[in-house]
This record gives sequence, structure tokens and C-alpha cells, in this order.
Amino acid sequence: MLGYLVGGLTVASIAIAVLFDYVRLAGRIWRGDTSRMPLIDFGWVVAVTPRTYPSALLCAGAMTGSFALGGIAVALGAITSARWPELILSAGVVMLLTNVVLVPLNWIVEATNRPKFLVSPPYRGQPGSFAAARRRRQRRQAGLPPTDHLVEIIRVRPEPDDDSEPYLVAICADDECGWMEFADDDALDQSEEDRLRAKAARHSTNVVREVKRGP
Ligand SMILES: [Zn+2]
Repeated sequence: MLGYLVGGLTVASIAIAVLFDYVRLAGRIWRGDTSRMPLIDFGWVVAVTPRTYPSALLCAGAMTGSFALGGIAVALGAITSARWPELILSAGVVMLLTNVVLVPLNWIVEATNRPKFLVSPPYRGQPGSFAAARRRRQRRQAGLPPTDHLVEIIRVRPEPDDDSEPYLVAICADDECGWMEFADDDALDQSEEDRLRAKAARHSTNVVREVKRGP
């Protein structure tokens, strides 16, 4: 009995903590502040990006909410013989089943950026992944680099107590892209910046001219 009580409460607390993490960041991400994203993601099952965040929150809410209800029901079942823990468990199962609709809805938002009310406002003008892939293909066929993402060149200075040299890194500012490169060690007759810019030019036509100072 004690095992069910402790196990149920542990599952419920983890689920509530995960849900709290998602809800806490929702307001920021809705306004386009992506400086922090949730610590836990659901891999390929649910797309959790700033653009798809509202629909991901629905899925995460239904998933973690159902685990929380299930955990609470198991814990209560261990200390009472009343029927209502079973009702809580049933509510949890119904909540979990809503994901049959919510997860495909998240995939639709990811692929098409529609319906707009489930897209964070700053990202409503962006293409979904289908349109973005088509655009990349068309750009390649036209002999262009695949994207026009904003790419910044940043000079990173090591910590004061670290005697290694400063180095350059190119980082794509697009929230869903994640492209990032360092200069290659070949073609050393060129400067580090030229070698890195040559790489960045293969990703985007929109590489910032200035070198930004890193942290
Ligand atoms: Zn990019």
C-alpha cells in the first residue's frame, strides 16, 4: 500500500513540475521571447518550437495532466476504499485520449503554420515546414543557398583565466534552424573570418557584415 502511495505521488509531482515548466514560459514565448525554452521536450512526437508552442502546450497539458491525475488516483486508492479515485483515474484516461486529436493538430501546425490562433503571434507570417522545404528546394534550383536566414558572425572570447585564443562562430538566428559552424582548418591562406563567411554563404544569403562581440 505504501508503495502505491509513494509511487502515485512521485508520478503526480513529476507530471505537475513538467506542466508548470511549460505553463511558466508560455507568456514569454507567446510574445516572441525565446531566450528560454522548456527543459523537457517530446522529441519527434510533439514539435516544441516557439512557433508551435501553443499547440505543443495543449498536448503537454493533456499528457502530463493525465499522468498527474493517474498518480493522484493511485495514491488515493492506497489510502481509501471509496470509488472516487477510480473516477479520477477515468478522467485521466479521457484526458490522455484527447491526444489522439491534439498530437496530429500539433503536426498540422508544424507543417502548415495553421490554424493561426494556435501559432504564437510573432510567427504567424512564417512558413510551415512544408512551405519552408519547398522554398529551400526552389532556392537551390535557382543556384542560391537554401535560406535567407539571418546569420551572425560572433567573436567568442574565452574566460579571462583561459589562455586559449578568441575564435569565430557563425550562428543562424532562425528559431527552428539551429545552423551553426566554425571556420574549417583547411585553406589556411585565407583569414578565419573569410573561411567562416564562405561556409555561412552556403547556408544563407543574409549574413551580417559586422563581427559581433560574444560574451
Ligand atoms: Zn538557418
